[in-house]
Amino acid sequence: MDRIAYVDGRFCPFEEARIPLDDRSLFFGDAVYDALIGKDGRVFDMPAHMTRLKSNMCALGIAAPLPPADMERSLLEAASFFHDSVCFLYIQVSRTAAHRRHGYPTDAASRLLITAERMGEPSPDRLLRLITTEDRRYGFCHIKTVNLLPNVLASHEADEAGADEAVFLRDGRVTECAHSNLSILVGRTLYTHPTDGRILPGITRHRLLDLCRHLGVAVREEAFGIEALMQADDVLVSSTSKLCMRAKTVDGTAVGGHTSLGRELCERMYEDFLSELGG
Ligand code: PLP
Repeated sequence: MDRIAYVDGRFCPFEEARIPLDDRSLFFGDAVYDALIGKDGRVFDMPAHMTRLKSNMCALGIAAPLPPADMERSLLEAASFFHDSVCFLYIQVSRTAAHRRHGYPTDAASRLLITAERMGEPSPDRLLRLITTEDRRYGFCHIKTVNLLPNVLASHEADEAGADEAVFLRDGRVTECAHSNLSILVGRTLYTHPTDGRILPGITRHRLLDLCRHLGVAVREEAFGIEALMQADDVLVSSTSKLCMRAKTVDGTAVGGHTSLGRELCERMYEDFLSELGG
């Protein structure tokens, strides 16, 4: 079994899962989500992801579909279907299903949807090819909603260019990537865009900053431009499914690869993952 779904309180084969046509996630993208990784009944960094999901529901006034402990139990159960490989867990809460109009009913129940699918283990040795593209997103970049069209278009641009990720540039400054955060190392200082509403506060980004502080690496949450990206000693891309990986090219030009610290950070992030999920 490679994929499973949980809808309306029960697990079923992915292909059999159904949601009503008037679910507001379909017409309006009126839903929040989170993405996690798990294995054999365990989920990596679950408290941080659940805290973010709850705060995102709260920010948009979406009611909790279940008590938090029950949502966590369902995620753990989803991960228990995958004994011998890592799985990618997707959890979505849509505001409700209702007749299509922009305004929404305030008394209707929200819907919980979970999917889990087999994925390859992230490798700290993988080197990524990046492209740059304009950050055309509107507000709410800090809330993980399913309104992802600019991210989808940027990811497609990366696919077309044979690259792994697209780096967003807003007014000449690097914000983040289409589905990851981005940091650079200059000597023993790590620079990354501040969490000021223009980026998603990534759980992995947070872990990376904690790790840097633990290792005595200076952390500066400051925006930087394309020149700094191209000249950085190392370029680090972080997300739940990648953990932390270094970039080897940006728009076809070689970048980074000048520190042992970059590699060490990726390896340490991977070791944390192994120790929590048991390899
Ligand atoms: N930035 C964006 C736009 C994302 O979509 C993601 C993950 O999906 C991230 C950053 C990384 O966040 P996390 O580390 O919580 O997976």
